[in-house]
Amino acid sequence: SRVPLVAGNWKMNFNHLEATYFVQKLVWLLRDAHFDYRRCEIALMPSFTSIRSVQVLVEADDLKIRYGAQSVSVTTQGAFTGDVSADMLAALGCTYVIVGHSERRKYHPEDDANIVDQVRAVLAAGMRPILCVGESYEERRQGIELDFAVGQVHDVTRDLSRDQAAKLIIAYEPVWAIGTGMVATPDSAQDAARAIREDLATTFDETVADAVRILYGGSVTSKNAVELIGEPDVDGFLIGGAALDADELATIARLT
Ligand code: 13P
Repeated sequence: SRVPLVAGNWKMNFNHLEATYFVQKLVWLLRDAHFDYRRCEIALMPSFTSIRSVQVLVEADDLKIRYGAQSVSVTTQGAFTGDVSADMLAALGCTYVIVGHSERRKYHPEDDANIVDQVRAVLAAGMRPILCVGESYEERRQGIELDFAVGQVHDVTRDLSRDQAAKLIIAYEPVWAIGTGMVATPDSAQDAARAIREDLATTFDETVADAVRILYGGSVTSKNAVELIGEPDVDGFLIGGAALDADELATIARLT
């Protein structure tokens, strides 16, 4: 009953001209394959500078592709040089905003409090957060990966209302799997997704737990997507490297 979501996180790749070219190619490929956008949702997460170009294409051709941003300011407006507000992103037609990606947690001062505030800002502007969690190699080595990932989710959800939590999308992205070619096994992706869903059921209720889509991210390609999506609690993917290749992304979406 959960419609799967295939989201491409472009990270710091593609200027607006490259983004335009990519979207045109992707749409052409999907049209050629008679892709059914009601069966599987596709979203692109460009850099801030490319969002407007994606919006223009999507609106001009009434495309069924959704899009969003990779981060957002926790404040609404004012003297915050270099920041972009949630309202600005909503005005660009963004559906989603990635929050708490491990690269943001690592290279920017994004702690739990900041991540909760970003989630609230995204929701207040009428968009949906894609909350990223996932253990590093060290936690996996210690065998505490499930507690770690669930803990990261819980640190955010304990400050949310039931209605807010129901609007979340959660991406389980083990840090050791990101950009390494070392994809998680379907079993371990399922274990993490199930543990996260069980925590949502405990914190809120079964309805919320059933509604929230839980994505897997980390070295997803067209070669491993089928096995992963076969798992009952894996509701789609957050894709980095493979989302920079339109053929690859279209193939993954078809297989999801
Ligand atoms: P890769 O697909 O390149 O491993 O990146 C995953 C990711 O970080 C998506 O947010």
